[in-house]
Amino acid sequence: MSIYDDDVFRMACDQFQVIADYLSINKNDRERLMYPKRAIAVTLPVHMDDGSTRTFQGYRVQHHLTLGPTKGGTRFAPSLSMGETAALAMWMSWKCALSNLPYGGAKGGVTVDPAKLSRTELERVSRRYMQEMIPFVGPHTDIMGPDMGTNEQVMAWFMDTYSVHQGYSVSEIVTGKPVAIGGTEGRREATGRGVVYLVERAMNMLKMDPEKCTAIVQGFGNVGSVAALSLAYKSGVKVIGISDAHAAIYDPKGIDIQAAEQHVFKKGTLRAFAQDNHVDPKELLMMPCDILVPAAVDRVINGKNAGELKCRILAEAANGPTTPQADLILEKRWDEIFVIPDILCNAGGVIVSYFEWVQGLQSYLWTEMEVTDKLFRILEHSFAQVIKRAKAHKISHRTAAMAIGVERVLKAKKMRGLFP
Ligand code: GLU
Repeated sequence: MSIYDDDVFRMACDQFQVIADYLSINKNDRERLMYPKRAIAVTLPVHMDDGSTRTFQGYRVQHHLTLGPTKGGTRFAPSLSMGETAALAMWMSWKCALSNLPYGGAKGGVTVDPAKLSRTELERVSRRYMQEMIPFVGPHTDIMGPDMGTNEQVMAWFMDTYSVHQGYSVSEIVTGKPVAIGGTEGRREATGRGVVYLVERAMNMLKMDPEKCTAIVQGFGNVGSVAALSLAYKSGVKVIGISDAHAAIYDPKGIDIQAAEQHVFKKGTLRAFAQDNHVDPKELLMMPCDILVPAAVDRVINGKNAGELKCRILAEAANGPTTPQADLILEKRWDEIFVIPDILCNAGGVIVSYFEWVQGLQSYLWTEMEVTDKLFRILEHSFAQVIKRAKAHKISHRTAAMAIGVERVLKAKKMRGLFP
């Protein structure tokens, strides 16, 4: 479909076709499952601080409406396209279904580099985006959350803009809000914590001693930084590599992750951190380590470098970090590299978003301990199901995870039937 024409969308479709073949899904059902239900493109005119007006492109893709409202993050990134948004929405569908959340997948965002906007410009872009989306979203239609380039503050502006329009506070329109306005304790840390919970499960299964393990984390945003901190200070793993869009740091003696976090808090990037230990960001993925956590952008592990990875556990904290070409290689290396596929590995974020939505609808609050406990139970269940199916059918963890998600959506579509 030409409106989605994009490498990332093709990749999501190729991944889906592998699953559809494995599940022997017929052609009609494949198309029904694969193509997004709705896609919205908007143009956002925004006053800039210098008095000029700039227009930005915004998107929202709602992948399927079969299991409930759609749910998914909002990405502010300079290269965001409709096709990439559609791919991310499709992945959200399989991710929500794998965790048994009553949602279809969605994704949205604005083609903009948020680092190049002032705070007031970022606020105007955020508010205008939500303003344009008001006819298409709602607590029972489509619920936004954070993603790359957005944060709690952006979610607060979204909520405020929607609420001002309605005339009363609608906290359940977005998740990942600050706790002070109805956000859930532990949501910000949820994705990174979930990643590390699953890494610990994998280490346990593989009889690896965390104290003797090393990790490399690519990406130091909300997900990568929490994962690195949690690996270092909770699991006792030595983190020997970290990176962001500006720098990659490798130190076999171990990196002071707290210092890195404080540096990024002050300076916004790792660019000037531990400069003696900077390495080529592409090389970082191929350095020897026990746990490799890609927590940045899609397609970083591809046909060219998948054969070169030297890790025991690949924990996919990003969405779509591994291409289908890389999967073919990793499937052959199944006894060397234990893959925790993205729709399982990074599901912690949307799981706690689901709690936040439920809490908002019911005006009810849970403690951080309750939230984290419920999160780990859901992840545990999904992990066990994926491992069981992969073993029983001799398939990869990705095929098992996606198949569970796709099957649930297909079953629901069949039960509801086709109208008229
Ligand atoms: N951006 C998150 C993800 O990719 C989910 C956002 C949300 O909570 O809706 O899983």
